[in-house]
Amino acid sequence: MKRTCHPALFLAPLFLPWLAMAEEDDPGALEALPAVAFHVQQARDIAGDDFRFLADGLLCRPAANTIPEAIRTVPGFLVPDAPGIEPFAAFDNLYYIGMYAWGTFVLDTGEGLILFDSLTNEGQVNEILLPGMAEMGLDPNDLKYLVITHAHVDHYGGAQYLKEQYGVPIMMSVADWDALSDDISYPWFVRTGYPPVVQPERDVEVEDGDVLRLGNASVTFVLTPGHTPGTLSPIIEVQDQGETRTVAMWGGQALHEDLATLSQMHNSLHKFWSLGRERGVEGLISTHAWFVGNFEQHARGRVDGRNPLLIGQDGFERMMGIYDTCIDAQFARSHAKLSSGAAGAAD
Ligand SMILES: [Zn+2]
Repeated sequence: MKRTCHPALFLAPLFLPWLAMAEEDDPGALEALPAVAFHVQQARDIAGDDFRFLADGLLCRPAANTIPEAIRTVPGFLVPDAPGIEPFAAFDNLYYIGMYAWGTFVLDTGEGLILFDSLTNEGQVNEILLPGMAEMGLDPNDLKYLVITHAHVDHYGGAQYLKEQYGVPIMMSVADWDALSDDISYPWFVRTGYPPVVQPERDVEVEDGDVLRLGNASVTFVLTPGHTPGTLSPIIEVQDQGETRTVAMWGGQALHEDLATLSQMHNSLHKFWSLGRERGVEGLISTHAWFVGNFEQHARGRVDGRNPLLIGQDGFERMMGIYDTCIDAQFARSHAKLSSGAAGAAD
């Protein structure tokens, strides 16, 4: 699984003949580069039909320079008043509540609730999160912890309000508390017409490997920098038909273009992958649930009694393999752009 030297490094000189054709505004030419095409095809081969959405989705496409470009194709991202979708129980005690483009998971531990992410602002908390919790029979006064996967507005925007209303402590990695004032998503959300966002005040600092135990649940925090400097990817014990199962939440989805953060992402993925394997992870979830196929899984319903979000350890391996090869493809694109002088090491 681990590689000592990145294959794209060997292939970089081979890009040059193709780069003559690879105009900046012609992503098709970039995609035709042998190293890019090779890795994208590799991702598709791992994906087969059941995970094709991941290899054919945003993950394996060229990383865009800006957030709006990256998420242009996702319904609801550019819509400040996007409606909530029907909340649902992904497991006996884990609920998805939010919009299509992003949302929250609420874990009912039996001794209180752990909320993962917080929507974008007070309005979305009041209009989407709280009614969704009521519909699922969850009392916001039972909130014990609020985990923020990373310091982007779509994840932390409702946090300060929730803390003020319910006294729930806000947990984020040290690196992302530090990065909050430089959050690149903040000015974009303001420009897009979202109501003013209140950034949370520094609260609980989570370290790599910290374990949160409450009621029947445990949450192990894996620090996975790359999408942001301190993205957290929790490994979570959930209940499914009365049995404990382990699922993992990859905390930050979109790739960047620059080699330094891509490298971080690559290392983080391998760390998360091996810890997930050790822990017998059987499902991958995300507060950008569309990205990892959680909506389609849920819509399929149980097959022979099996929860559709449980893809098995083999499914987890394959999804991690797709992430890995899509990051390889992005490395190849970025190396090609650097070789051609088309792009600097900027974000
Ligand atoms: Zn983000």
